[in-house]
Amino acid sequence: MEKYEVVIIGGSFSGLSAAMSLGRSMRKVLIIDNQQPCNIQTPHSHNFLTQDGKPPLEILAEARRQLEAYPTVEFINDTAISASKSEDLFEIKLKENGEVKAPKLVLAWGLKDDTSKIEGLAACWGISVIHCPYCHGYEVKNQPTAIIANGNEAIEYLKMISHWTKNLTLLTNGSSTLTEEQSQKIQSKGIQIIEKQITKINHQAGKVASISLNDAEDFPISVIYHRAPFIQKSDIAAQLGCEFDELGLIKVNDFQQTNVKGVFAAGDNATPLRQVANAVAKGSLAGVMANRELIEESF
Ligand SMILES: Cc1cc2nc3c(=O)[nH]c(=O)nc-3n(C[C@H](O)[C@H](O)[C@H](O)COP(=O)(O)OP(=O)(O)OC[C@H]3O[C@@H](n4cnc5c(N)ncnc54)[C@H](O)[C@@H]3O)c2cc1C
Repeated sequence: MEKYEVVIIGGSFSGLSAAMSLGRSMRKVLIIDNQQPCNIQTPHSHNFLTQDGKPPLEILAEARRQLEAYPTVEFINDTAISASKSEDLFEIKLKENGEVKAPKLVLAWGLKDDTSKIEGLAACWGISVIHCPYCHGYEVKNQPTAIIANGNEAIEYLKMISHWTKNLTLLTNGSSTLTEEQSQKIQSKGIQIIEKQITKINHQAGKVASISLNDAEDFPISVIYHRAPFIQKSDIAAQLGCEFDELGLIKVNDFQQTNVKGVFAAGDNATPLRQVANAVAKGSLAGVMANRELIEESF
């Protein structure tokens, strides 16, 4: 079984950034990645300095090219399927390539958005159905926009998005769970609330044209905000005994350390702020801290 100093599970923005800190610390590192970042479908990534507007896969390809300059950093295109700890080493089982081991682990596998609940949503995800105004709001500012959300999330979401456009419609996709006061507040802003069940998002190549509703005419719209429910992309954190917060994110301290000694988590799987810049920052810190622990243990 090949031994590394650090194994990184997930080789996208957070994982590659951790690898950069570690490669520059001459650490023998393996990045295991199956190349499915959550923003894979987005034509242009925004709000990351020097890379604004570039396709996400181009940014990642450039990051990998830069990492190839560090001879102790290895990549493997595979899926980590399980992990366990024996003495001071973590053993990680890969789908295709056996097992590897290391004393430090960086979990950087991101989140899986569940876009299966509404027909058409998956095809439009990141193209015309967006979740974050900082990533894509500028490009669609002032346009007629639908928000699919309900209850407390809906009022918070509307409040935020109303900064980018005042032309808003709220679709609760079934009976509203807003309080009377919340509904009145929304309507006082001239925002219509549609409670009909959504049956389908109609689109062409991911560009929304309209929303089909139960017992009502199609609602024409070209921009939708929606936060899909998410899960961790791997259950390895749970297998290792990592703690999670109430949102299902891996709990980390200010240094990206989980409650399991030697295990760090970075990027979307451990933060509510889903942004490339944040994933890169947290990944970098996880790499620095993994290196620091190795130094502490060997000095
Ligand atoms: C649709 C959409 C559009 C977005 N647009 C923007 C934007 O414009 N600007 C912005 O700043 N942010 C944007 N974001 C947020 C941004 O994409 C994320 O914050 C960022 O990708 C998080 O990086 P990450 O490395 O944590 O996870 P990801 O980028 O999701 O990468 C996780 C990696 O781990 C791999 N992986 C997962 N499980 C395993 C496993 N078991 N074994 C091996 N590999 C595994 C995956 O294949 C993937 O390569 C967007 C997000 C979405 C969903």
